[in-house]
Amino acid sequence: MTDFWPLVVFAHVLGAIIWVGGQLTVTAVLLPEAHRLLPPGERASLLRAVGRRFAVLTFALFVPLQLVTGVALAAHGSLGWSALLRPGDELTARIDAARRRAHMRLHTATHLLCALVPHPVDGCSITAAHARLDFHTAEPLDKAALSAGIARLVAEAHPVRHRWISEAELDANPQLVRSMSVQPPRGQGRVRVLEIEGVDLQPCGGTHVANTAEIGTVVVTKVEKKSAMTRRVILGFAEAAAGRG
Ligand SMILES: [Zn+2]
Repeated sequence: MTDFWPLVVFAHVLGAIIWVGGQLTVTAVLLPEAHRLLPPGERASLLRAVGRRFAVLTFALFVPLQLVTGVALAAHGSLGWSALLRPGDELTARIDAARRRAHMRLHTATHLLCALVPHPVDGCSITAAHARLDFHTAEPLDKAALSAGIARLVAEAHPVRHRWISEAELDANPQLVRSMSVQPPRGQGRVRVLEIEGVDLQPCGGTHVANTAEIGTVVVTKVEKKSAMTRRVILGFAEAAAGRG
């Protein structure tokens, strides 16, 4: 999907160029020649017809294309000053503390889930509102039991810390990598591992709380059978889950 947005930008800019080019052609080429060659009556009807056709094309093609691509680009963040940034530009970053906190809690909770479900992970996504993990298994997973398991590990207040191990150490312990499709980034000679004391140990570059107690009330909101060999578990905050009824 990385090639998609440049195409949208291209369509947006090309649409504008064709429209403005059309206006220029009418004004600079068609009008003077119509003035020179046609008697006033015919000139007027030609210009009316050209104007009508231009208006139809404008509202049927140009306006919808510019609106759709423009709104899509604005929503995607490809319009605006940030799109003009160049490598080396100095920036001030501001962290949205509440959003970061939600990510830390949910992300750390996915580690607890990994510890509770003894199957490889073949998909993962985390937002500030929910997290999902796909486990490679045909076994059913129990929503209430998993929520209870997470609550127990949160109540036990396990310290969470990260450290670095060498790539050689990781090679010697391939079972540390729980994810089937994603391998930790290589090439620095070291890999960051996240340890929840007595619970979970795996390579991770994510953001975490310092103690499982800080996760608070995170529950399993849904367990889905995505395919014969995939069980999807969705985590959310208990407050929000209760609010949805
Ligand atoms: Zn992590």
